[in-house]
Parts: sequence; C-alpha cells; structure tokens
Amino acid sequence: MERFITEANLQQFAATLAGKKHVLAPVASGGTTCFRRLVPGMRLDFSRMAVISPKDATFPRNETLLLVQRYVEESGKKLELKEQLPEGECIVIGSRPCGARGKLIFDPVYETEAIKDPYYLRRRDNTLFITLSCDRPESTCFCHSVGSNPADGTGSDVLLTAVEGGFFARAITPKGEELLADALFEEAGTRAEEAAAKQTKARELMGQAHDFSSAAAKLLERFDDMGFWQAQSNKCISCGACTYMCPTCYCFNITDDEAGLVSRRLRSWDNCMSHTFTLEGSGHNPRGTKAHRLKNRVGHKFSYYPDLHASQIACCGCGRCIKQCPAGVDIRQVVMAAQEYVDER
Ligand code: SF4
Ligand code: SF4
Repeated sequence: MERFITEANLQQFAATLAGKKHVLAPVASGGTTCFRRLVPGMRLDFSRMAVISPKDATFPRNETLLLVQRYVEESGKKLELKEQLPEGECIVIGSRPCGARGKLIFDPVYETEAIKDPYYLRRRDNTLFITLSCDRPESTCFCHSVGSNPADGTGSDVLLTAVEGGFFARAITPKGEELLADALFEEAGTRAEEAAAKQTKARELMGQAHDFSSAAAKLLERFDDMGFWQAQSNKCISCGACTYMCPTCYCFNITDDEAGLVSRRLRSWDNCMSHTFTLEGSGHNPRGTKAHRLKNRVGHKFSYYPDLHASQIACCGCGRCIKQCPAGVDIRQVVMAAQEYVDER
C-alpha cells in the first residue's frame, strides 16, 4: 500500500495516536533532537537524526522485571514476587532506517531455542516502526557498508520518504497497512517516482561503501596483538558514550533496588567500555585495560557476532558512536586498520 500525507497531517496523525497509545518520536530538546514520549504540545522534529536511537522502545535503559513484596506476619516472613511484563503497544514515529534495522540484532540473542526473554519479546512484538528514510546522510553514516541503505525498510512497518509538501508512505507489513488506512493519508498519485528519485540521490550522497568483508577474519588475526589495540585505543577516555548511543548494543546489568519491605529487580543497559564491566569479585579483570575493552567492542560487532549469526555484522552503521565520541575514536577506522594491517614482526 502506498499513500501520501502532508506534513501538517502527519503532526496531527502523531498527536492523535499519542492520545491513545505510547508514541515515541524525535522532538527538539535542549538544542538537539531526542526521542521522547509524545505528549500534547510536542511536535515531531525531523530536521536531524536523534542523538540516541529509539532503542528504548524495545529495550529500555531501565526496566523493572520483578516487584518483591516482603510480609512479616505472626506465622513468619513471606515473600511475594510479581513479574512486571510490559503492557500495551508502542509506536515509534521517525526512527531512521538504521535504528529500525538495528533492533533486529537483538533477535538471535534474546530468542533462541534455550532462551526466550519474555520482556524483550513482548516489547518487540508490540512495537510498530514508522520510519523516515534519510535524504541527507551525515559524514559519520555508513549504513551502506553494513548491508543497508538510507531507505532500507527492514525492521519497519511503514517507510516515509519526504517529498514536496509532505511524505510518501509505503506500508511494509500488514500492521503498517492498518496505519495507512487512516483518513489523514491520501492517494499517493505520482509521488512514488519522486520518492524513488530522492532515495537514489541519498544513496549517491553516501559515496563509496567500505568493504568490511575481511573484517571478521582480520580482527581475529589481531586478537593477541595488544600493541595494535593499544594504538587504536590511545585516545579513548573510557566514557562509555559509544555504547550508550548504540542501537545494537544489548548488554545489561541486573540490580535490586530495596526500599523497606518492597524491592524492585531492575534491568539496566550496561557498558562494555567501563573497567567495571568484567571486574570479578576477586579483583581480577580479564579486560583490565581500555585496549582490551575496545578490542572486545569492535571484535564483537564485526567478528564474533557475525561468526555466530549468519555473517550479520552487529552494527547498523548509524555512526552515533563516531559522532558522539569525545576523543574521536572512529569504529570504521579501527576495523579498516585491522583489515589493512601488515604484520612485519
Ligand atoms: S565514546 Fe570514545 S572515548 Fe568514550 S568509551 Fe567510546 S571510544 Fe572511548
Ligand atoms: S557501533 Fe556505532 S555505528 Fe555501529 S550501530 Fe553502534 S553506534 Fe551505530
């Protein structure tokens, strides 16, 4: 199904949806653009890519897994556990293709024969993505180097492309077709051709893609070469911004938050660039230096994960880690340095 919607009507459509459901959308905030829960008075801001992807929709930065209630009675102490499975539907409006596709990296990890994470699966199955294709890729974008493109509909229910006066909308899933049945959407007319031309132009603006086809093997070759990893990580200050910005990072920590007789078991995003990530109770740390930690972060995304999961690189090329790194560490350059390395020892 293909439709057209004016910009004003898209704002109206989003506001109406937000009155009925949880809608996550990019809004202007503090001089930048961030995904927020849309509430009355907020307007969609499509002027630039949001600082953090809408990963919160399917994998929130903090979520309560369990509530634990303690009772002290004459007969003794009792514990009651209440599982807190997420309820309701979420609609993400204005993700970029990298964010919608990036969430798919979670599936082989959170849904296996042995493990089915009920919190993640419920959120994933109850979240719809109305994605906006990119027309002005930034210098840090490289989705075309990891099997995608600025108009990739993978992982989305609807793909919007900006055209004269509004947006061309293409349904990708049956749920997307239901959304486009809303009366605010009009006949698409000849806008499909205009949208296709815009998409082609955006792809051309990205230029030549990097060839990461030898990355998995070459990163493994450098596994024990800590001199290489020391050189790559010299600039890193271990701030962890790269992992927090990343749509495909899926590590978490579990903590208990106690308040009197009630406590909450929380799951929160973790950060493999922090020295505490693998710190053991004994004080030993198998990834005790930032060189070890960068090796793990890059190796995981471009080598270990693809080896386990059908050669799929665990990076959607959004470039957020490059753009937000205060020290100028560029994951593309690290991978290419490993690929081009000539061992003269
Ligand atoms: S954002 Fe940059 S400086 Fe911060 S941990 Fe990541 S690589 Fe290191
Ligand atoms: S590693 Fe960097 S470029 Fe790749 S998905 Fe994560 S933030 Fe985006």
